[in-house]
Amino acid sequence: MSFAAWLADVKQEARQQGLSEETLSSLDGLSIDTEVLRRATRQPEYIRPPWAYLDTMLSPIRKRRGKTMLSKHKPLFDKIEARYGVDRHILAAIWGIETNFGDQQGNMLVLRSLASLGHQGGRRTKFGRQQLLAALTIIENGDIAAARMFGSWAGAMGQTQFIPTTYQAYAVDFDGDGKRDIWHNAGDALGSAAHYLQISGWRGDVPWGYEVTLPPDFDFKQADMNISKTLKKWRKAGVRAVSGALPNSKARAALFLPAGYRGPAFLVTDNFRALLRYNTAHAYALAVGLLSDFYRGGGGIKASWPLDARPLHPSELKTLQQHLTKAGYDTGGIDGILGHTTRAAIRRFQIDKGFVPDGYASTGLLTQFTLDNAKPPQ
Ligand code: CA
Repeated sequence: MSFAAWLADVKQEARQQGLSEETLSSLDGLSIDTEVLRRATRQPEYIRPPWAYLDTMLSPIRKRRGKTMLSKHKPLFDKIEARYGVDRHILAAIWGIETNFGDQQGNMLVLRSLASLGHQGGRRTKFGRQQLLAALTIIENGDIAAARMFGSWAGAMGQTQFIPTTYQAYAVDFDGDGKRDIWHNAGDALGSAAHYLQISGWRGDVPWGYEVTLPPDFDFKQADMNISKTLKKWRKAGVRAVSGALPNSKARAALFLPAGYRGPAFLVTDNFRALLRYNTAHAYALAVGLLSDFYRGGGGIKASWPLDARPLHPSELKTLQQHLTKAGYDTGGIDGILGHTTRAAIRRFQIDKGFVPDGYASTGLLTQFTLDNAKPPQ
């Protein structure tokens, strides 16, 4: 289907949803943005180690500016905290990481980006069309004009980078001027982020997580984001916070090892999971949490990173998956992605070989297969 025919089809669907001809005319004259298509089909060549990613996210300028913004907008943060019960330091961290406090919102026209994705965005076509229809509804509501609706190449919009469906469901008009303007109004943007976190299960009485130390005989099979236990139970198992005491509470947490058993360890709460609804990358949620700690006056990670154990790049991970599969450890396909099945396969392999079963796909693990050919357990 040509782009023009595809746009006509989208218009027809929008018309059936009751959108006006005036709104639909904002699709007239759109052309494919090849830059969007290029980015949509790009495969990551390598994965940045968590320590490098965190260094960028927690840059000195972002740290400094966040503190300035927190004091500059103190009355606003007071009001948002009171209404949604979401900690201001978390909101400031999201604001800083997403767009450098509104400075880098993306300069691409959202309708054009989403139409390009919807027409020929590969695995993002369904997403593109769905988000395009949602974007048209936002225009119909009068929140922003089509020509001013800017965002990232994937349609993330405004100071806190909401995609259109998230915007429709959770954006709020915090300052009460009749428009939900997350592009130009910091109150609307931060209020919307707070509302989204509140809806995602944010709890005011627990932090995002704690850096912890583990006892010498710790069972690393417990370091699994799918295993959730009360803080009380983790304490009983000998887990300790590196600063202060781990509360003896019924709040639930999972043990997260961003770089395997030799690196820093974190107990992460339901608030960490709320952050994952914002962005599914664990490193992202960790960066937001750590930056918020800094804004609160905290001092960063105490443990050191295993700099010699970088995570595998997608092509290396594929090789590892091939080795594991051949050796009888099902990785659920050879896709270069470290999903739950691949992690579980790595753990079984580690257990059989007498290694620490942390499920971490490092370069050292891949080396094992070049040193000797692993045999499936008899
Ligand atoms: Ca407003």
